[in-house]
Amino acid sequence: MSHSPLIGLQFDNAFTRTLPADPVSDNYRRQVAGAAYSRVHPTPVVAPSLVAHAAEVAALLDLTPADCASPAFLRVFAGNEVWPGMDPYAMCYGGHQFGHWAGQLGDGRAINLGETVNRAGQRWTLQLKGAGPTPYSRMADGLAVLRSSVREFLCSEAMHHLGVPTTRALSLITTGEPVMRDMFYDGHPKAEPGAVVCRVAPNFIRFGNFQLFAARGETELLRALVDHTLRTDFPQLGAPSTDTYLALLAEVAARTAHMIVHWMRVGFVHGVMNTDNMSILGLTIDYGPYGWLENFDPDWTPNTTDAEGRRYRYGHQPQIAWWNLVQLANALHTLVPDVPALEAALAAYPQTYEAETQTMLAAKLGLREFNPATDHDLVNGLYAALSLTETDMTIFHRRLAELPCMAEVSPEAMLATISPAWYTAAAVTDAIKTDVLAWLKAWQARVQLDGTPDATRRHAMNAVNPLYVLRNYLAQEAIDLAETGDYSRVRETLEVLRQPYTEQAGREAYAARRPEWARQRAGCSMLSCSS
Ligand code: AMP
Ligand code: MG
Repeated sequence: MSHSPLIGLQFDNAFTRTLPADPVSDNYRRQVAGAAYSRVHPTPVVAPSLVAHAAEVAALLDLTPADCASPAFLRVFAGNEVWPGMDPYAMCYGGHQFGHWAGQLGDGRAINLGETVNRAGQRWTLQLKGAGPTPYSRMADGLAVLRSSVREFLCSEAMHHLGVPTTRALSLITTGEPVMRDMFYDGHPKAEPGAVVCRVAPNFIRFGNFQLFAARGETELLRALVDHTLRTDFPQLGAPSTDTYLALLAEVAARTAHMIVHWMRVGFVHGVMNTDNMSILGLTIDYGPYGWLENFDPDWTPNTTDAEGRRYRYGHQPQIAWWNLVQLANALHTLVPDVPALEAALAAYPQTYEAETQTMLAAKLGLREFNPATDHDLVNGLYAALSLTETDMTIFHRRLAELPCMAEVSPEAMLATISPAWYTAAAVTDAIKTDVLAWLKAWQARVQLDGTPDATRRHAMNAVNPLYVLRNYLAQEAIDLAETGDYSRVRETLEVLRQPYTEQAGREAYAARRPEWARQRAGCSMLSCSS
């Protein structure tokens, strides 16, 4: 350990201080019983180079721009140096993968450096992803490639700026070392550039952490983890007790619902909603084969591994989150045998989901509030209209904001306003136009009942309907260039996505429909878990 110039970082490692550690300190793959984590150091890399960093995340940690440009920053966030005060460890967790209990999984390529407390008293855990093997790496190498690291880095920050609860990303660093990956698991492995992302969140505890201890009958460890989570991240719920365990479940259910409503609002499809990828804080976590809905299709999944069952398709995410919460409740059942009470706590999920979905849909449509008497039909009509021909959901809502409701507009002008959202103009038949127009008129009539002035409504709609999202092909273009050693697109994409609701001169291309070439290209429409 050498001393760093970034002496401002204060560490307070509550997780490792409070919870039992794996007594084995050697770094080899194994089952770890009776412990919440294993201490393990990142593996140093030969030639770290900074691709990008997120200034807002640095600010959360009280790091200055000079700190971020320093050699010490590069060394520590590449995994080449551990600073005094850090206590690196990998967490022990399990999970359900694609609906099946998978046993121990754990941080196979994530290493928590420690918990830093900033000047405002906020606690942030710093976690390196791709920094080498841990006891939980199973058959894999503990590494990450540049391609998937660019995706994780950009999407974490894009989601934050969209207002979606998420883990953050501080830095993206290439290692100078090749990593072998068989991208489509079809016997064609190739060497790709390796990279490390530093993720930042209050904690990285997943549903699967609780599940594993419950499954193993490690009841006291489970209780210790629940109590630690309550004390550290949910102090407002009160001192640990059966009642606060139930309050925690209700709170996690509500937060998860809140997160899913945001995903549905912006068209985000996580792609691998396994219970080990569900944060106890209700944050979007583990950006792997995620994707963004372009043409509206509730059945779309970006993940090739999920192509058969489409378990994690866009329209199914609310049900999957519920299924995952039921697994969390099953784990807590060991501590709270009262099933009706657990069910009552879980009810926070449908309640929050229904209420917030209505508010969200009303906002997306520029309505003052959701009126169940009329607006269920209006929304169903919208989904039908969006499904008539390939229609870009993001562009559609921005165009809709432009349509006058309080002044006369011709049918031709209405359709012309919406038409940039259509992928194939030639496919839009007269019959489709008639149906879309009928919906637009029904929507106008509904807005007129509110009487909101057009400019006011447009402003409100544009605050919830993003102009710029991390379209799958935009991420891929940034990756293609980054793989040649040119990081300018990664940085520019981050720059644009920092203000996703605001029109930015010269950045029109970032708001454009997916180009035809991207339709079937790997990385743009299909992604595997290989990362
Ligand atoms: P995921 O579904 O990508 O979140 O990963 C599932 C499990 O596989 C987790 O325990 C990960 O830590 C582990 N894992 C994924 N990729 C790697 C890798 N390259 N090396 C070691 N473990 C990995
Ligand atoms: Mg994971």
